[in-house]
Amino acid sequence: WWTRLRDGLSRSSSSIGTGLVDIFTKRKLDEAMLEDLEDILIRADLGTAVAQRITEAVGKGRYNWDVDPREVKTILASEVEQVLTPYAKPLVIDTTKKPFVILVVGVNGSGKTTTIGKLAAQFSREGHKVMLAAGDTFRAAAIEQLQIWGQRLGCTVIARPQGSDASGLAFDAIKTARSEGADLLLMDTAGRLQNRAELMDELEKIIRVMRKQDEEAPHAVLLVLDATVGQNALNQVEIFGRVAGVTGLVMTKLDGTARGGILVAITEKFKLPIHFIGVGEKVDDLEPFAASDFGLAIAG
Ligand code: GDP
Repeated sequence: WWTRLRDGLSRSSSSIGTGLVDIFTKRKLDEAMLEDLEDILIRADLGTAVAQRITEAVGKGRYNWDVDPREVKTILASEVEQVLTPYAKPLVIDTTKKPFVILVVGVNGSGKTTTIGKLAAQFSREGHKVMLAAGDTFRAAAIEQLQIWGQRLGCTVIARPQGSDASGLAFDAIKTARSEGADLLLMDTAGRLQNRAELMDELEKIIRVMRKQDEEAPHAVLLVLDATVGQNALNQVEIFGRVAGVTGLVMTKLDGTARGGILVAITEKFKLPIHFIGVGEKVDDLEPFAASDFGLAIAG
């Protein structure tokens, strides 16, 4: 997976690493090079504050010196690691909650359903009894997809026909999970950002109704972000954070993009824990987030 992450983030001419080599090869450091560096970092979505800090760190004491791109990469990797380290946190399951309810939110296509399948596989392997709830009741395909994951993993999937009320499903799912002694309930949700008001109402209602079953539910709200959307991810964190009280992040598709830098900007701004990264479509392609690996992969 490390290779996939590194290959993803350093892919193509748009990667930071390639840009650095272009700037820093065989020239003495001057102001123009530092400006180019800052541009590259901003274009890589790291955010202006971090881009400035890295540029300053590179410039310090190096004017008129030959600068090896490798040295710049090391500074970049270590700055990214520093920003992210406090937020690289595992998702802790409180086993006194039965079930521990995890609500999974995010826009359509971000990788919610796939991530739920991957998480269910991990948690089952760790010995938890996992149940799934097909809360994206708008799309028949989403319900089916979750049912397929359930069959594969041997987890019960609570589902209702397409178009059903997702909050009613949430209520029943907690009840069923409790009566069947499930440790964990992972609930999928719809992510129609096109209709923001409806989406917000629905999420609020799901949470309100869950609390009729368990006043502390959901115990975790995971926001799944697709790394390939770049700057848009900031809006998504803002919106879902406001409505659903996001407690942690999962960033998917880091195997296929050079745009993962947005995670740095998100962390600077929202200071949310990052639990996992998705590095492929298969069941095992979900990794605990590690700040140092991510820093190295970004630097290419
Ligand atoms: P949802 O609409 O948010 O539930 O998104 P899905 O789980 O249906 O995922 C949308 C697409 O992204 C599917 O084709 C998934 O296989 C794919 N996908 C999800 N996570 C990853 C990942 O980490 N890497 C890659 N390459 N594809 C992923």
